[in-house]
Amino acid sequence: MSDSVLSGVSVASAFAGMRSVAPVVFKAGCPDCRGRFELAASALRLAIGATSRTTFYSFTCPECGASVRKPAGERIVELLTGGGVRTLRLHSTL
Ligand SMILES: [Zn+2]
Repeated sequence: MSDSVLSGVSVASAFAGMRSVAPVVFKAGCPDCRGRFELAASALRLAIGATSRTTFYSFTCPECGASVRKPAGERIVELLTGGGVRTLRLHSTL
């Protein structure tokens, strides 16, 4: 399971050691049409739930239009939030 999570998304452009305003592109794949493409941060949504089971990211496939939702592990959450992806908190731990 962790394997599929880690291979689900990766950052294509380097952070270059510091936070910059350079646009970050995420590589993603569609399980429906098996297309592979790069998505800007604005094309992705991250939903953070109370547990890793309810934490996921989603996007609309630019090739077939399918709504894709995938679980997001800690590393992916870091990548996405660091890349400026819009984040929705489903649960407040405070
Ligand atoms: Zn697709």
